Amino acid sequence: MILILLGAPGAGKGTQSERIIEDYNIIQISTGDILREEVKKETELGKIAKSYMDKGELVPDDIIIGMMENRLKQDDAQNGVILDGFPRTIAQAEALDKLLEKLGKKLDVVINLEVPFDVLVNRLTARVYCSVCKKTYNLIFSPPKIEGVCDVCGGRLVRRDDDNEETVKNRLNVYLEQTQPLIDYYKEKGILKNIDGNRSPDEVYNDIKNILENIKK
Ligand code: AMP
Repeated sequence: MILILLGAPGAGKGTQSERIIEDYNIIQISTGDILREEVKKETELGKIAKSYMDKGELVPDDIIIGMMENRLKQDDAQNGVILDGFPRTIAQAEALDKLLEKLGKKLDVVINLEVPFDVLVNRLTARVYCSVCKKTYNLIFSPPKIEGVCDVCGGRLVRRDDDNEETVKNRLNVYLEQTQPLIDYYKEKGILKNIDGNRSPDEVYNDIKNILENIKK
């Protein structure tokens, strides 16, 4: 199964991916997570990526497409993947179509999480994540039991560099201009499912599960 989780930054793609991974035997590939690892390791790619990420801009398509081509060919991606944060432009979506065709695979569904922009700004600026296991928390709606400490693994909770108000606003504008057109792109292909993402994670996940169960049949 190959599915894309589409939605603006803060729409809940990461949170829902965590749940899907637990219930279905597939992995999540998050371009944002891969890039943040490269930044942390201070690789050449990481240095280039950081200059875009800090401003809330998109990393150039050719870099992202090359990175995803390598990732999708790896053994652990053969049973199924959730694509989180990719594609983010029409050029990336077209490259993905070609790549999947070359690999003899097909995109099953694109799930679009819809959340109003004012809600997204509040969610992103209150977001922290575990520096070890990557679990995300919202300091207002789903705070950790002990301040600054991950409930699951005890790791230290940190804030993403790009979750400050100014960068968040730019990321949302970039989403509107460059990523939102993907909604029509996948609607035309007949594989788009819209979900109201402005509800509790459990309610959103219920709808996702219904969609995924129908695909499996
Ligand atoms: P995310 O964790 O998905 O919010 O991504 C964080 C940042 O990484 C974005 O603001 C972009 O700078 C960069 N990024 C992640 N995925 C992509 C992508 N598919 N194309 C271009 N840039 C990306």
